Amino acid sequence: MRKLITKKIPVSEEEKRQRVEDYNYFENANIDVEEFIKRDIYDEYVELICLKCGHKDEIEYDLLLEMFEFDDVDVPELECPFCKGGTVIPSQFLDEYKKKNRK
Ligand SMILES: [Zn+2]
Repeated sequence: MRKLITKKIPVSEEEKRQRVEDYNYFENANIDVEEFIKRDIYDEYVELICLKCGHKDEIEYDLLLEMFEFDDVDVPELECPFCKGGTVIPSQFLDEYKKKNRK
């Protein structure tokens, strides 16, 4: 897969607390909650756009990587949940796809 442009969104203190408490609980771990909250944690998102209906969406980068982990794809393509048969791609490739389709 080609390198994707991601948007980094800082995770709120509340969310960090929730995550580390969940992790400690479910994984039977003992991470220092206060220490963890002091760290800067980001979620990375990839902006997606549908080639057919133009619907914009965001997906977590990690989730996208997981979905295409075993696929040897150049650009990840998803099916649009809003229109029938639309192809959703990371919006950074939009111009490239438009040019390709004009040929
Ligand atoms: Zn669509």
